[in-house]
Amino acid sequence: MARTFFIGGNFKLNGSKKSIKEIVERLNTASLADNVEVVICPPATYLDYTVSLVNKKQVTVGAQNTYVKASGAYTGENSVEQILDVGAKWTILGHSERRTIFHEDDKLIAEKTKFALDNGAGVILCIGETLEEKKAGITLDVVQRQLKAVIAEVKDWTNVVIAYEPVWAIGTGLAATADDAQDIHASIRKYLAKELGDKVAEETRILYGGSANGSNCSSFQDKVDIDGFLVGGASLKPEFVDIVNSRA
Ligand code: PGA
Repeated sequence: MARTFFIGGNFKLNGSKKSIKEIVERLNTASLADNVEVVICPPATYLDYTVSLVNKKQVTVGAQNTYVKASGAYTGENSVEQILDVGAKWTILGHSERRTIFHEDDKLIAEKTKFALDNGAGVILCIGETLEEKKAGITLDVVQRQLKAVIAEVKDWTNVVIAYEPVWAIGTGLAATADDAQDIHASIRKYLAKELGDKVAEETRILYGGSANGSNCSSFQDKVDIDGFLVGGASLKPEFVDIVNSRA
């Protein structure tokens, strides 16, 4: 089965109405490959606005984070129900910045993933090792531990896309090499096959994230287990279109 190429744009805490309008207009007017799925994730404040601007069939909108409750006394949180209500379809969960800066652990991320899926959102689930963990040679242990927590909660992986994002590559300009990323992706797929069966392993998209940009994206082109990218900094720039079209 061919997995549809998937590009996530993680704007992080960046943007304004003006800059988001420019980004969406670039996508709206560009010629985008037919067989690509693009999910742009602005700050929550701009979800509604972004949804109102998008008019390309390949492009949908996602949140960067959601909580494990539908509503209630949770000041500052985003609800899955509300992001869906304004027309977003996806949420990123488990991003390393959430894990590190906001102290989200594997268990909370697994619960959030289950809650988002049960309530109708797709999930871009981020995993990845830090530089210390890479140096210690425990990359696979780390990503398997992160996945295991989610596997314990989630049985239906149809609406999950995994983003392998080595923390040392995020925002540093130092992307993993395509060969190294392919090795990790293949190991992740093997682990999914062992835990969830061949069908889930075969169908689940695994994205690479960490300093992916318009110049390096084509080097990942022939890697069989790399099904797209989760793009941070470059998703704010014109080169995002080149990344979207890098497998056309
Ligand atoms: P980057 O971020 O592309 O700016 O490295 C990727 C991410 O954090 O998702």
